[in-house]
Amino acid sequence: MSTYNRLPVQFQRGEGIWLWDSENRQYLDALSGIAVCGLGHAHPAVTSAIAEQAGKLVHTSNLYGIELQEQLADKLCSLAEMDRVFFSNSGAEANEAAIKIARLFGHSKGIDNPAIIVMDHSFHGRTLATLTATGNRKVQAGFEPLVQGFIRVPYDDLDAISKVAANSQDVAAILVEPIQGEGGVNIPDSAYLDGIRAICDDHDWLMMLDEIQTGMGRTGRWFAWQHSNARPDVATVAKALGNGVPVGACMARGKAADMMQPGSHGTTFGGNPLACRAAIAVLESLEQEQCVANAASTGEQMLAGFSAALADLDGVVEIRGLGLMIGIELDRPCSELVSKALEQGLLINVTAERVIRLLPPLILTDKQADMIVAQVSNLIHEFIGQ
Ligand SMILES: *Cc1c(COP(=O)(O)O)cnc(C)c1O
Repeated sequence: MSTYNRLPVQFQRGEGIWLWDSENRQYLDALSGIAVCGLGHAHPAVTSAIAEQAGKLVHTSNLYGIELQEQLADKLCSLAEMDRVFFSNSGAEANEAAIKIARLFGHSKGIDNPAIIVMDHSFHGRTLATLTATGNRKVQAGFEPLVQGFIRVPYDDLDAISKVAANSQDVAAILVEPIQGEGGVNIPDSAYLDGIRAICDDHDWLMMLDEIQTGMGRTGRWFAWQHSNARPDVATVAKALGNGVPVGACMARGKAADMMQPGSHGTTFGGNPLACRAAIAVLESLEQEQCVANAASTGEQMLAGFSAALADLDGVVEIRGLGLMIGIELDRPCSELVSKALEQGLLINVTAERVIRLLPPLILTDKQADMIVAQVSNLIHEFIGQ
């Protein structure tokens, strides 16, 4: 179905940060399939893990024990300091699990119609519940009736959350991105997550973080909340977890971890041996190659580079980012930059109409980081100069 306006290019193979199209033209991938291929393309350890597992056992069922799922759960939960995890096949499904946990939690407290506080400009997925949670009318339009039980407030506004607390007895949870990705790489005040944690503690709400884009090292920590003192009760990841093999996870700790019981939720594919083997290889490779620290340092280098190259340019509103999640906001719509970059052999993205978004692989070298800065800065100079 025509769900996408696709760019006129098809890639045939990849290696590291590079892709080659059907005419064998080479491209630098500064988007990583939207924050998915953190280890770049055709990573040898992930490739051999997938190939080996495919020759052994791809799928059984969650009706049976799955050793690889237990191993992945242990590894992921120790990195995230979480107690339990539900594995899904996508980000939206991981968020669905989080939403269901919030509702079970609300009902356990005697709330008949539990509500979840969500944010303006958020993105949580395309299923009916997650598009309802999403703070973007374009994602919702035409799909009404939407799902009940969401209360929307502005992002990065603790007072707005406190006001809801004062006026509603029905809230069970807050669902929020530590940095809004699709919404324009919006970075909240450094005290925001700590503030949300405090409000959730005061009112016995679950703090639920959507780390689907920010997680798995993207921001220079394994999870973006680790830049703060706050720890969520529930956190979802997906995108980079399998480096392209579809796998998502909804992690929980404490009381939130005990909400799901046998029969409350399920999935046919989620957490199957193939996906889990791939994700284990991803975690091991991210660790061995120190990708999280590399994301922090190359990200800083890129921000500094962009500030130097674009500082005096009038049309640039703001350059912002954390780790290798970078947004350059212009004063005008700039989606045409995507095809201009493509013509020059560079993959970038524009989100929220005016924000150039860069999500390069976490294996990026200093030299490659400089190449991206130079090429993107030139594109912006040309675009604004015209
Ligand atoms: C991509 C994304 C999702 C949705 O993930 P899918 O795998 O496309 O369902 C949800 N939340 C955030 C923050 C995302 O970036």
